[in-house]
Amino acid sequence: MARKSPLEVYKMLPGDNCGECGEETCMAFASKLIDRDAKIEDCPRLKGKKKEKLIEYLTPPVREVKIGDRTIGGEEVIYRHELTYFNPTAYFVAISDNDPSLEERARKVKSFVMERFKTDLKFDGIAIRNKSGDPEIFKEAVEKVMEIEMPMILCSFNPEVIERALEVSSQKRPLIYGAIDENLEEMCALATNYECPLAVISSDLRKLWELSTIATGSGVPSIVLDPVTDSLNMRGTLNRIVEIRHQAIEKRADPFRWPILGVPAASWLVEGNGYWEEAVTAAILQNRFVDAMILNTIETWAILPLLTLRQNIYTDPRFPARVEPGVREIGSPNDESPVLLTTNFALTYYAVEGDVEGKLDCYIIVADTEGLAVEPSIAGGKLRASDVAEIIKENKLEERVKHKKLIIPGAAARMRGDLEDSTGWEVLVGPKDSSGIVDFVEKHWKK
Ligand code: SF4
Repeated sequence: MARKSPLEVYKMLPGDNCGECGEETCMAFASKLIDRDAKIEDCPRLKGKKKEKLIEYLTPPVREVKIGDRTIGGEEVIYRHELTYFNPTAYFVAISDNDPSLEERARKVKSFVMERFKTDLKFDGIAIRNKSGDPEIFKEAVEKVMEIEMPMILCSFNPEVIERALEVSSQKRPLIYGAIDENLEEMCALATNYECPLAVISSDLRKLWELSTIATGSGVPSIVLDPVTDSLNMRGTLNRIVEIRHQAIEKRADPFRWPILGVPAASWLVEGNGYWEEAVTAAILQNRFVDAMILNTIETWAILPLLTLRQNIYTDPRFPARVEPGVREIGSPNDESPVLLTTNFALTYYAVEGDVEGKLDCYIIVADTEGLAVEPSIAGGKLRASDVAEIIKENKLEERVKHKKLIIPGAAARMRGDLEDSTGWEVLVGPKDSSGIVDFVEKHWKK
């Protein structure tokens, strides 16, 4: 699909350059709208037909839906390399309303965190299942989960059960899960009256299309599509998901322009299945456009690969992950501590930092290579000796250490001469892999 253009957006803005939106010009505001760093409402002068036209232009092929304060969907492209993905898949953990350890499990979900490359990887919410069949027990479970303040999915096919829970929780905007052929009318009425999103469920895409059409036609504010996760037939499951996303993005087929929900937790329903099957099912769905998932497991070993996969898929390919250039102090360096050089590609920097932290007190010069790793930045002329000299000067490194020695990555060996000329420092060519830095310093630094 064609990329959205700031110029097209600019044409729909008032063109007054008044600055009331916080930007100096309408053109700057247009660029921010394209990048989703500003909202249309930030321009108070935009009204009427022009505003409607701009809303239509900027609404992504897959509409955004809010569950609590978590946004899902909103994607513009099928494949990430065509632009980027915007809203990472939301992970909801299933909890049964009659589980005696409900509160303990909910707190575990809330407090779960894994740090990877300085980012906290977490769950996004809780899906409460009405296993008891009792509306009152379900309502009480929802109230308990509300106390931990996470987005919620209310799981029951019984409208009476859902209504009892919505009476106490609708202000939190939970996802109602969900509507099937048999309860569609009642669920649509609940979603409309309580202004909550509604999941429509069917493994038959023609039926799913019909459910979505009827739901939006009856006033449901937002929809989530569940084409049913069948862990005994993942080929069929994936085919349905791919078809929905193609219809949404390439054909702009309105009933399918909503986020997709997958339920890896369903894999536990198959006798003999467990953590392994759920993790594999979830990974398959994560790779193919699913915007939200209901999971059963909170075991770290089973969930970690999935969290890592999500983080990688939702890294913006237009901008290599990068850190601020400059000089970092690792540990408690003094005026005799080694000075290392690396680039500001986040994965490179954190690998170096991780390999020396706790083992070596040192300084790391982080060169601005526009987020490129060592070898590509040298090949592309982004790691420049003059920039390194500038960082040394700006950060007064010559006052902070009494030596003038710099350890550079082995992959940057060919820069040695240039660096010595530009900085006036002695340059030591270190190991190719940062895991060898500590050994290298022990063997070579004092000599
Ligand atoms: S508030 Fe509207 S008219 Fe004024 S500069 Fe921003 S976009 Fe332009």
